[in-house]
Amino acid sequence: MADYHEMWESLGMDVKAHDQLCAVLPTAFGDTYLSQENRPENMAYYDFVVSEIHGVRPAELIEHQKAGGKVLGTFCLYVPDEIVFAAGGIATGLCGGSQFWVPDGEKVLPKNTCPLIKASVGARVGRTCPFFRIADMYVGETTCDGKKKAWEVLAEDVPVHVMDMPQMKRPQDVQKWIGEIGIFRDVVEKFTGNKVTKENLQAAIVLLNEKRRALARVFACRKADPVPLSGKDALLMMQIAFYDDPGRCAEMANKLADELEQRIRDGHGVFAKGTKRILVTGTPMAIPNWKLHHLIETSGAVVVCEECCTGTRYFENLVAEDCQTIEEQFSALAKRYMKNNCACFTPNQGRIDDILRLAKEYKADGVIDVNLKFCTLYDMEGRDVERALKKEGIPVLGLETDYTDTDAEQLRTRIGAFVEMLG
Ligand code: SF4
Ligand code: SF4
Repeated sequence: MADYHEMWESLGMDVKAHDQLCAVLPTAFGDTYLSQENRPENMAYYDFVVSEIHGVRPAELIEHQKAGGKVLGTFCLYVPDEIVFAAGGIATGLCGGSQFWVPDGEKVLPKNTCPLIKASVGARVGRTCPFFRIADMYVGETTCDGKKKAWEVLAEDVPVHVMDMPQMKRPQDVQKWIGEIGIFRDVVEKFTGNKVTKENLQAAIVLLNEKRRALARVFACRKADPVPLSGKDALLMMQIAFYDDPGRCAEMANKLADELEQRIRDGHGVFAKGTKRILVTGTPMAIPNWKLHHLIETSGAVVVCEECCTGTRYFENLVAEDCQTIEEQFSALAKRYMKNNCACFTPNQGRIDDILRLAKEYKADGVIDVNLKFCTLYDMEGRDVERALKKEGIPVLGLETDYTDTDAEQLRTRIGAFVEMLG
């Protein structure tokens, strides 16, 4: 990585502590990613992004701020990035996926909070992530209890706007979400000093739909046998999609999809034809959480799809592009985002339907339902997931883990036994 110490210092980061993170990441990435064989050439872009993870994109965001633009940090798929881009801002995902940030999070949050929340808060309060320093405003949501309280902690240090998520999906809930998007628009307009108009919102809708289409193209290639892309590489593409420039994200994903489609025509796979295919479902896997995928793909199976927020939920369903008025655009946005099936909703039959559909579409031999420790929502929903899959005769393994490596060997044993059982 080039030397960004000056930039990090100007962001008020704890550069000494941050150096420790920078020291371990290349080895972790090398062991997990660069050790893979037969990777598509177009993964080079994503490898480069990781090698410069706290440098290149943060520098771009700072340039945007120098030109008068605002950066808004988000933590959830329900926050409509379109509003931010329409107002000339940049939305960037901020979820933390490293154990490195957890101890700092535990200084201000109970230990029995999910690692995603602890890492995200820790990255801010420990001043060890440039993205968390750069964001001018954080956008939270009332999805799970841990996050709701975390916003209050973060709000002591940085401006936070919280979107009030409905917890059900009745028509009145969609109406309520339209209202919340309207409030968010008002906040963003005031914060950026720019109006959201029908024209700039239309451009943002098309921009983000293009990104979704490109990511969907890559995922569609994973339906092939032999599969032309490892699950680890697909996960990396998704994790980077959360904070990359959306236009560039679409361009790079389309290039990767071109290569994968050619690989399929050539019958060229990263794993041998007939390798056991796993659908992963459950809690999100924020960068650099590659643990489960690495364990699965070094245990004789391949991950072919993720039904989670760092998977299909991020790109499935487009926002209607044929709206005639700004009111119709807001309604189209609310409808699209309310199609996400997060466990924070009750009931959440849509997620079960998605898992069954995706298991068939991606020809999964088995499903691994992974839960981040202390996430009650996904943990409780695991029972319904298991029941539905068993009814369809699809083998399922439920796992709970966190960001540490202490359970890696135990997980490897259970995953290995599951893969063997698949035949
Ligand atoms: S799992 Fe739910 S709360 Fe978490 S990012 Fe996804 S939609 Fe948001
Ligand atoms: S994984 Fe669960 S507990 Fe953690 S932030 Fe997401 S919904 Fe909340």
